[in-house]
Amino acid sequence: MAGARKPGRNFLFVPGPTNVPDRILRAMHVAMEDHRSSDFPKLTLPLYEDLKRIFKTRDGQVFIYPSSGTGAWEAALTNTCSPGDKLLAARFGQFSHLWIELAKRHGLEVFVQEEEWGTGVHPEKIEEALREDKNHAIKGVLVVHNETATGVTSNVAAVRRAIDAANHPALLYVDGVSSIASLDFRFDEWRVDLAITGSQKGLMLPAGLGIVCASQKALAAMKEATCRRAYFDFTDHMKANPTGYFPYTPAVTLLHGLRESLAMLEEEGLDNVFARHRHLASGARAAVRAWGLKLCAKEPKWHSDTVSAIMVPHGFNGADVIDRAYRRYNLALGAGLSQMAGKLFRIGHLGDLNELMLLGAISGAEMAMNDVGIEVELGSGVAAAQAEFRGAALAREQKVAAE
Ligand code: PLP
Repeated sequence: MAGARKPGRNFLFVPGPTNVPDRILRAMHVAMEDHRSSDFPKLTLPLYEDLKRIFKTRDGQVFIYPSSGTGAWEAALTNTCSPGDKLLAARFGQFSHLWIELAKRHGLEVFVQEEEWGTGVHPEKIEEALREDKNHAIKGVLVVHNETATGVTSNVAAVRRAIDAANHPALLYVDGVSSIASLDFRFDEWRVDLAITGSQKGLMLPAGLGIVCASQKALAAMKEATCRRAYFDFTDHMKANPTGYFPYTPAVTLLHGLRESLAMLEEEGLDNVFARHRHLASGARAAVRAWGLKLCAKEPKWHSDTVSAIMVPHGFNGADVIDRAYRRYNLALGAGLSQMAGKLFRIGHLGDLNELMLLGAISGAEMAMNDVGIEVELGSGVAAAQAEFRGAALAREQKVAAE
C-alpha cells in the first residue's frame, strides 16, 4: 500500500517497553536450543549472580519467570501471604492501584492510604499506621518505588526507617518495575524483603521476564504462606535453579538478551547508569519549564528520573498530543492512565537512551502540542534541554580539569 511505510526509526518514548539496543537484539537472534542440555547452566547460573548485583544484594534470592511485571507482583505476594493477611499500601497512581487490586483478588486485606496522584508514599503515615497496629497484624507494606503513571519516585529508604521506628516486623515489598537498573536501588541496605521488576524497562529487553528478589526473611515467611500458587511457586524454582534449570520451559531467547543486558550495565557501571538517567531527566524537566507547563509530580522531591508526566493545559486532551505525535512524527509518547486519562502525556527517559535521542522526543512533543493548539514556543523545550545538557557537560569538564 503506497505511503504506508514510515521511514526512519520509531521514536519509542513510552516509559516501557524501552528501546532494545542492537547488541541485545543480536544476542537474542539465536537458534532454539535444548533448555535441559548440559551446557544450559553456563548461560543461566551467572545470570542469578549478576542480577544480585543489580538488586544490590548478597543474601537475597533471585527468581526469573517467563511473565511480565504483573506476574512478579503475584509471585511476591502469593509466596509469602495467606488469604486474610493484612497489608498496608499507599495508592497514588495506576500501578499502585493495580497491585492493591491484585492483592485483594488473592483474598488479602489491604489497608489503603489514599494519596494525591502526583505525590507518593508518606513514610510518616506508614509509621503511624504501623505504631497503631499493636498486635502486628499487618503482614507487609507495599511500596511502588517509581509510579510510572504519574512520574513520581518515593523514598524507599525512608519507608524502611518508618518500619524500624515503629518497631514493626512487616515485610517490605517494593515494586521496582520502572526503577531497578535505572534508579539507585539497594535491596540489602534498605532491607527490602521482596523486590520485583520486569524486563522491558531499565533492563532494555522486550517484555517477557518477571524478576523477583526475596530476602531470607521472605523465604522463611513462605513456609507459613498458604495463598494458592502453582506456576509462580518459589519452591519449584528453588529445587531447579541451583543446577541452572527451570521447573518449566524458560524464555530462552530473553535469557540470552538478559546476558547481554547485564554485560552492558556492567560495562557502563551502575552508578553511571543512574547518573545518566538523572542527567536526562533534568533535560526533560528543563523543557517542561520552558514550555510553561507543569509536571504531574507536585514537588521536586517526587520527581522521577525515569519518566516525566506532563500536564496539558485545561481544554486540551493529552491523548490528541499523543496521537498526533505518533501519526505525524512517528514518536510514541506515554498516555495518561485512569484518572489521569487525557490530562497528561508522558515522556519515558529510561533504558538505552542518550541526549540527542531525548532531544528528538522533546522536539516532536512540542511540534505535536502546537499541532493540536497548545501554543508552546517551537524550539523552546529543545533549547532549554540543550542548555541543561551543555551546562552539565561543561561543569564535568571543569571538574576533571581541576583534578
Ligand atoms: N509496576 C509498574 C511501576 C509499572 O510501570 C508496570 C508496567 O508498566 C507494572 C508494574 C506492570 O508490569 P507489566 O506491564 O510488565 O505486567
